[in-house]
Amino acid sequence: MEEKIERLIEIMKGKGFLTKHEIEDAIRKTPREFFVPKQHKEEAYDDRPIETKNMQTISQPSVVARMTEWLDVKPKLKVLEVGAGSGWQSAIIAKLAYPETVYAIEKHADLVEFARNNLRNANVNNVQVIHGDGILGFPKKAPFDRIIITAACEKIPNSLIDQLSKGGILLAPIGKNTQKLVLFQKTKQGIVEKKIEDGYVFVPLVGNYND
Ligand code: SAH
Repeated sequence: MEEKIERLIEIMKGKGFLTKHEIEDAIRKTPREFFVPKQHKEEAYDDRPIETKNMQTISQPSVVARMTEWLDVKPKLKVLEVGAGSGWQSAIIAKLAYPETVYAIEKHADLVEFARNNLRNANVNNVQVIHGDGILGFPKKAPFDRIIITAACEKIPNSLIDQLSKGGILLAPIGKNTQKLVLFQKTKQGIVEKKIEDGYVFVPLVGNYND
């Protein structure tokens, strides 16, 4: 297993998607094989997305690395993830935010179970998986220092902007068939774009934007 992880880390570094030592370490300590369906264990360390359930996916490792780097999570920051899926992305964030809890919302009930089981098997104790609609955020625990949306959105849901703390960072893939990865920050002037990169493909964020 260690050998396969190291090989994957080298691939991600080679692509320029993994540059920070602490993120490399968080990924190393969060073996992806705990988060992929049994029949796909052999492919756990390939740099490719893998189907989970209900036609949903666990994201490609180098994309997870890139998003984690942009999100810039430090110890004790409060993070919300929209689209828990397998729980792998939240488990990596949980290593960086420790001892704070990461809140991860998932719409599909069977994926909620899947993520909770995976996190338990991987011994990750500071992620709370919530069954709900991520478009509404998680007002009970707001504001969040970081919000990461791991499904394609047409635009950023207003509730999530409201639940972002001042100076906080929100990261999301925006677009229909293909997406731009966009990093926003909440400033005194409102929400501003800080970084943008083309060429991503995510499953859609499903639901009503209500505004
Ligand atoms: N971050 C995940 C991959 C996410 S794939 C991982 O590391 O494995 C996107 C996920 O978003 C899917 O699991 C999908 O079911 C979920 N999703 C789609 N629309 C949603 C919504 N409105 N609220 C919460 N989750 C949603």
